[in-house]
Amino acid sequence: MKSIAAVLVLAATSLLQAQDGVTLIFVNGRVWTENPQQPEAEAIAINGNRIEAVGTTAAISSMKNPGTPVVDLEGKRVVPGFNDAHVHFYSGGANLAGPQLRYSKSQLEFRDTLAAYAKTQPAGRWITGGSWDHENWRPALLPTHELIDAVTKDWPVFVNRLDGHMSLANSLALKLAGIVKTTKDVPGGVIVRDSHGNPTGILKDAAQDLVERAIPPPSADQIHTAILAAQAYANAQGVTSVQDMSAAPEIFRVYQKMMRDGELHVRISGHQPLAEWKRLANVGLMADFGNERLHIGGLKGFADGSLGSTTALFFQPYLDAPDTSGIPSAELAHPDQMFQNVEQADADGLQVAVHAIGDKANHTILGFYEKIEYEHGQHDRRFRIEHAQHLLASDIPRFAQLHVIASMQPYHCIDDGRWAEKRIGPERAKTTYAFRSLLDAGVTLAFGSDWDVAPMSPLMGIYAAVTRRTLDGKHPGGWVPEQKITVAEAVHAYTMGSAYASFEENVKGSIESGKLADLAVLSDNIFAVDPEKISDAKVYMTVLDGQVVFGPIPTPYGRSPKGWLRRPADP
Ligand SMILES: [Zn+2]
Repeated sequence: MKSIAAVLVLAATSLLQAQDGVTLIFVNGRVWTENPQQPEAEAIAINGNRIEAVGTTAAISSMKNPGTPVVDLEGKRVVPGFNDAHVHFYSGGANLAGPQLRYSKSQLEFRDTLAAYAKTQPAGRWITGGSWDHENWRPALLPTHELIDAVTKDWPVFVNRLDGHMSLANSLALKLAGIVKTTKDVPGGVIVRDSHGNPTGILKDAAQDLVERAIPPPSADQIHTAILAAQAYANAQGVTSVQDMSAAPEIFRVYQKMMRDGELHVRISGHQPLAEWKRLANVGLMADFGNERLHIGGLKGFADGSLGSTTALFFQPYLDAPDTSGIPSAELAHPDQMFQNVEQADADGLQVAVHAIGDKANHTILGFYEKIEYEHGQHDRRFRIEHAQHLLASDIPRFAQLHVIASMQPYHCIDDGRWAEKRIGPERAKTTYAFRSLLDAGVTLAFGSDWDVAPMSPLMGIYAAVTRRTLDGKHPGGWVPEQKITVAEAVHAYTMGSAYASFEENVKGSIESGKLADLAVLSDNIFAVDPEKISDAKVYMTVLDGQVVFGPIPTPYGRSPKGWLRRPADP
């Protein structure tokens, strides 16, 4: 599948490069530019990898050279290529090829799906990924190793819940990891045990490391395969840029090789673990380093876990687990050390992003950022909080005052919104995924998906932010409807907002002359349709660097199978 598309892209590329001036033209569209000077337009002229001009169909058509492909959009909506500000690109790609447990509707279906997948794998190979969600089961009980042992005897299994904050190991995996009854919990993690104290197979947060370190690392080849799958999926969603929160060295090496080989069809901004800031600082690397295809300089830390795993850190206890109010991450369990890491990374010019879900986690990280700004003065450091999910009302204006970017994933709102209230109650729900309040306070929102915790579909994300209709259909008017935002605001957060979050708003995020030619063409005008229908819209075509990476390939001489290309006038 990939090879045919790649060949077509190459063929189109060489045709385009054979000429000077304008290389690709789009006419008769509805172009949402994100340029306040010219918010809407009909047509776009592209020269190589840059946008040459934006304007009316008549004006842009006059720029055509002999042989320039002209795409007649027939009224389709065009937006800047989407920029997903928070993905886990490798694990997402690897999971595309792993067991598909996310939509299992019961423990038995979960077990059977895993059993069927295992049979396709050589004995002894670790089975990982999965992204199961016990909240879809009735009753919503966590799975145990007993459930799957009989069908996975020959394979060590370590499959994660979709939020990545807990995983299930089978007996073989527990054995290989050396986890027994007497194994102690680790800071920032929990080994779930039965009434006799025996591990059930569920490991939460930092306890997952006990098994993960027994899994052999993926080869460069396996990573490459996963990244190819991930970028094809991204392009099909209209995504032209991703900010990879898990760009570990072995993955970053594959990105570099793919870039050199011309194989990287999505722009990557990679984040490294906060605790390893010194590696980057030691070579003098600062935020916004790299090129337009591959970019580095961001760090990602963790303050807490997730709501689904009851490890998100709150001031008040969980309603359905009153003995806990969450746990700080292994990193925040040593707050002085974590603060020092943030402070020194910032002092050395790196950008810091910290995962914070619970209100106390957010409050604590805002406190770190505030102290650093107070002690070291203001400059354009663009601190980020990833998720910013549950906020004290009094913390919302602090994001604006401290210029902290709220990097949020609206799909989580309509997913977690199904059950969040039983966990946190109606009062805390009011400032959960508080898009409206944050925008009204003047905060920069950067939108993303958290793929593959959630699907990497910006259209679904926009739908979620605009409607807040939970996936179970129980909130047709929107869950906490006062926090809804408009389509324009959501698109802005997915384009300019996320470009700003990686210091790249001068080269991308809008459709205007001089910027990178990254576009998404949509099947429907999402600004005009009934908001409930936004989730039905499809991505028709994705353009990266002036080249089609998804959808029908325009050529100057032929018609696409769909017949919408115009043959240019003969020279
Ligand atoms: Zn994440």
